[in-house]
Amino acid sequence: MPPKSKKGKSKTGPITQAGPRPRATPPHTLSAAYIFPGLHYKIITALSGDCVADSALPYFNLAGTDREATDTYDTTIQADFQCINQSCSEFEWSSKIVGIEILKFGDNTYNATIFNQRCKACDALGYLRLEEDSYVARVVYRLKKWAGVKMEEQPYNPCRGGPVHASELCEGCKVGKCKYATNFEEDY
Ligand SMILES: [Zn+2]
Ligand SMILES: [Zn+2]
Repeated sequence: MPPKSKKGKSKTGPITQAGPRPRATPPHTLSAAYIFPGLHYKIITALSGDCVADSALPYFNLAGTDREATDTYDTTIQADFQCINQSCSEFEWSSKIVGIEILKFGDNTYNATIFNQRCKACDALGYLRLEEDSYVARVVYRLKKWAGVKMEEQPYNPCRGGPVHASELCEGCKVGKCKYATNFEEDY
């Protein structure tokens, strides 16, 4: 028998010059909300550089919810998103109004949940790419505030000059944990 032709077998799909750029293969499962325990070390580095004593440095709480939390704070950070739906016309978007809920617990632990957004073109969950500095700054500020450290108010205003928040595409708004849950709709 003649060997079977391998032609066309090594590629996963046709490549068209005019098509969109290849989409990301997500390293994580798409989800409505995420935690980033892998960034805990950056939080600790920032806190210890801000005169928080080693003995007072918090640990990351992997499972705690707002029901057990002693302090809760809903705010926003920046993030980029991609739509990984190959047939979707939308490729990526950025948002300065990505919902984040920061929780503190009685055993000196904390966590922070970031809410995903949906693609405005096809309604698929986005592939979230966190702005790590934005995340760290937000969480560190809140933990210091809760620890009683005196600070100036954060100058960062997510609404200033930016597009408004599309609540219908925000997973934080859906569960009532986004501070922009009642904001008008338009673009993100
Ligand atoms: Zn899409
Ligand atoms: Zn929202």
